[in-house]
Amino acid sequence: MMRKLVIATTNRGKLRELEKLLEGMNVELLTALDFPAIEAPEETGATFEENAKLKALYYAEKTGEACVADDSGLVVDALGGRPGVHSARYAATDAERIAKILAEMRDVAGAHRAARFVCAAALALPIPTPHVVAIEEGRLEGHIAYEPRGTNGFGFDPVFYVEELGCHLAEVATEVKNTVSHRARAFARLKPWLAQWLEGKLT
Ligand code: IMP
Repeated sequence: MMRKLVIATTNRGKLRELEKLLEGMNVELLTALDFPAIEAPEETGATFEENAKLKALYYAEKTGEACVADDSGLVVDALGGRPGVHSARYAATDAERIAKILAEMRDVAGAHRAARFVCAAALALPIPTPHVVAIEEGRLEGHIAYEPRGTNGFGFDPVFYVEELGCHLAEVATEVKNTVSHRARAFARLKPWLAQWLEGKLT
């Protein structure tokens, strides 16, 4: 019997990436979109890890299934680490998020525009009571560009320049983003835990 795994997100951009990252695992992937009656939890944690754990536990409890959740965001040195865990709430739409960060960074010189995407990924199991069995983190270093470029990805990708790739993150296909991204790195670390769970070795 194929095991069910709930991905605790309604963000379609994220979902596209996660589906590819979890490809090949013998699981039936469900998402928060499959449970429209369940309200999204409030992300009250002070860190990415706290929020990932909180979301994984919440959906494991509400759905009764194993659940993975990630919490991610953009950490900008010149802004004292903002928007950080508040990245999703930084502005209402991706276009507004991009305009706002470019405005905030207008007077910041090139050498001080360093930033990173951070992702924490958690796995929670529902039985006997919801509990977190794994939490992993991944990072992607880069800097905030002066203008948006590219149409792929989501969120801040058009204004995030990645030295490793030599271009803005929104200029590469999902497959390429998935070779370096914070989310890919966090999920690469989570995958062995998922494999153990599928083998019945994690309770
Ligand atoms: P979360 O759903 O609380 O993890 O919110 C993450 C927010 O951080 C998103 O809404 C984006 O604004 C931003 N973010 C996280 N990961 C990425 C990414 O891979 N590219 C661009 N923006 C991202």
